[in-house]
Amino acid sequence: MPATKAYGAHSATTPLVPLTIERREPHPHDVQIEIKYCGVCHSDLHTVRNEWHNAIYPCVPGHEIVGIVTAVGSHVKKFKVGDKAAVGCLVDSCRECDNCKDGLEQYCHQGPTGTYCAPDKISGGHTHGGYSKGIVVHEDFVLHIADNLPLDAAAPLLCAGITTYSPLRHWKVGKGTRVGILGLGGLGHMGVKLAAAMGAEVTMLSHTPSKEKDAKRLGAHKFVLTSDEAQVKSVMGYFDFILDTVSADHDYNFYLGLLRTSGVMVCVGAPSAPATVPAFNLIFGRKSIAGSLIGGLPETQEMLDFCAEHNIVSDIELIRMDQINEAYERLLKSDVKYRFVIDMSTL
Ligand code: NAP
Ligand code: ZN
Ligand code: ZN
Repeated sequence: MPATKAYGAHSATTPLVPLTIERREPHPHDVQIEIKYCGVCHSDLHTVRNEWHNAIYPCVPGHEIVGIVTAVGSHVKKFKVGDKAAVGCLVDSCRECDNCKDGLEQYCHQGPTGTYCAPDKISGGHTHGGYSKGIVVHEDFVLHIADNLPLDAAAPLLCAGITTYSPLRHWKVGKGTRVGILGLGGLGHMGVKLAAAMGAEVTMLSHTPSKEKDAKRLGAHKFVLTSDEAQVKSVMGYFDFILDTVSADHDYNFYLGLLRTSGVMVCVGAPSAPATVPAFNLIFGRKSIAGSLIGGLPETQEMLDFCAEHNIVSDIELIRMDQINEAYERLLKSDVKYRFVIDMSTL
């Protein structure tokens, strides 16, 4: 499928519009996928608008990709035509460094190839993401989706799911852990579902009062409105672990105060402005602040299998491709319940 319909932006300040991109014919190890659904991550918006200073135009975002295999290269073993298949945030890495060998391709020492807006070693151009009709990816970077998961609601697992699952596992969250999930958006709502399924006590930390009912329906045991002084006071020094999913600039020090002694706050939300954290806010209470980037391929498959076993998918608002610019404006207002997913048949 060389010429492929897609949707993308030509600059940081112009809306996404229909365009045509080139996809390669499948190489011996490639899987060609007809994209059925693609989730809309806040990282798409950060990238399209060049907030992280890494955009390459035209920029076709989308890294929560699910669809059906339409062709496979001659050496492909993992997939056949007609299979369900998924692609997340990565489409390539060196496979030789110690991180790649440990299944931590996201931390590849040579730099992994992102699904979009990354220099593409294979084509010589740059990669294009899932806001398109199809994609061709090496089988090592294609994942299986179990039949019991609805394809549309499973799409966000490929980024929002793995980005929250990976730190919860790495920091051994489970029964007896007091977890705070900060921000109830795409990542946050998956964080609530996954932490609850792992047996943790989950508190939603949100700046939007109207989300309390939903937070509890999604699995949170408690809800704290972060603008309400009395509510915040009740959880000072309370949490073992806080997962910060906030996309906008915010004060990390405020949330460090909610950690108990030896508590850890992991930032997955990636606002563009640098933050200031005085050492004293960590020293008193032996607290840690850490980061975590998506997840490697083996862990992404593990997460998809965990979700299939526990019947976990995303709560989605299905949109048409031409509603994407409006969806971005709603993301900026924290107005999504809780992940936009594009129905690619509308492209
Ligand atoms: P999203 O759906 O827009 O959710 C972000 C949430 O942050 C909002 O729903 C809101 O929750 C909260 N928030 C927004 N503005 C706020 C403000 N001014 N003050 C306090 N809270 C605010 O975004 P997402 O797709 O989940 O992505 C979240 C962030 O994670 C983005 O920065 C994205 O780029 C990043 N990300 C990182 C990775 C990684 O590998 N580390 C992977 C994917 C995404 P409430 O209304 O509940 O307060
Ligand atoms: Zn993402
Ligand atoms: Zn590597």
